Amino acid sequence: MSDIKNALSFSCLDWEKWCFERTFPKFSAKQIYQWIFEKGILDPHQYSNLSLPLRAELSAAFDWNLPDVDTCLTSRDESRKFIIKTSDQLLFEMVLMPYHNRSTLCVSSQVGCKMGCTFCQTGKMGFKRNLSSWEILSQIFLANRTLEECNYEGKVTNVVFMGMGEPLDNYDEVVAACRMMTDPRGLGLSPWKVTISTSGLVPQIRRLAADLPVRLAISLHSANEQKRTRMMPINKRYPLSELKQALLEYPAPKRYGITFEYVMIEGVNDSIEDAKHLVHFLHGIKAKVNLILINHFPGIEMNPSSKERIDQFQSYLSERSIPAPVRYSRGQDVSGGCGQLAAKRENELLLDPRVLHRDRRRQI
Ligand code: SAH
Ligand code: SF4
Repeated sequence: MSDIKNALSFSCLDWEKWCFERTFPKFSAKQIYQWIFEKGILDPHQYSNLSLPLRAELSAAFDWNLPDVDTCLTSRDESRKFIIKTSDQLLFEMVLMPYHNRSTLCVSSQVGCKMGCTFCQTGKMGFKRNLSSWEILSQIFLANRTLEECNYEGKVTNVVFMGMGEPLDNYDEVVAACRMMTDPRGLGLSPWKVTISTSGLVPQIRRLAADLPVRLAISLHSANEQKRTRMMPINKRYPLSELKQALLEYPAPKRYGITFEYVMIEGVNDSIEDAKHLVHFLHGIKAKVNLILINHFPGIEMNPSSKERIDQFQSYLSERSIPAPVRYSRGQDVSGGCGQLAAKRENELLLDPRVLHRDRRRQI
């Protein structure tokens, strides 16, 4: 990786410091920040309200490139999965889901993931490295560029950290990126339109509550201690009671509450007994449960629950006033659905993620 800093890694405060140290006027910092984050222009030579020496220095002192797009696959449902290549030749993914007046971007926070959840394709590829804040932010820039090229109205309005990786395992970079996404001087997203999805890292949930409370989604998948530990090894470290306490204290606005992701797996977590555990766990929390059919991938021996099981499970929850919509995860035909992100190109979609990444490691 090159030593020269990428321009997207600087907050408005960093630009102020940088300008001050070089005796450029303080207001230039805000202007630079606006060119980058409000106008989305990554070429300092075009910054017409800045002096020529400042433009020249900016151009020389920073890297102004976004990472390369390796592959873009468009799903039948119009969502687009991008495989992005880092400067150290690693591949990660983002999924853009354009709608008419709002577009949601599912971003990655790590290349791979350490958490090892048994049902997740990203978990099966292992962990390569954390993404830096600018690599996280660059996903929004790439997405906005695509929206403009494809004549969609507007820019990315919602960001969800549901791509590759466990965002709270890369806390500092993720929070730095979220601060910049929500800075009104730049991208200006509402903190309630940025969602961090986590497998439940309790200390980091508490830190987030104090630092920058954004919307929270918890990948729960079972409210039975032993079962959850079998599915999600992190549960051994942060058991359900600790997770619940942190969630009760999380400052989510009443209107939104906390979202719980629940992957429905046949014969694993889809009985009425499982629903009872879930209702018990959610008691006292303003919750919405997204029921997601498990997305299949090569090498996994779990199947989605039947419609009948899902209906029973859903009724049990709604009779107890817990909304539980069944979510269709977009982009599945291009391996872009929830838990399917493993940096697969078109000719690799049918490969077992463990085999693919073992072979890639050999090639490097
Ligand atoms: N690591 C974070 C965010 C990325 S995963 C987390 O776990 O929350 C994004 C979502 O996809 C999570 O809710 C995850 O549990 C879900 N998921 C993982 N594997 C899946 C699969 N095979 N089918 C459907 N959803 C899956
Ligand atoms: Fe990691 Fe989330 Fe997949 Fe678990 S579900 S392995 S935490 S990406």
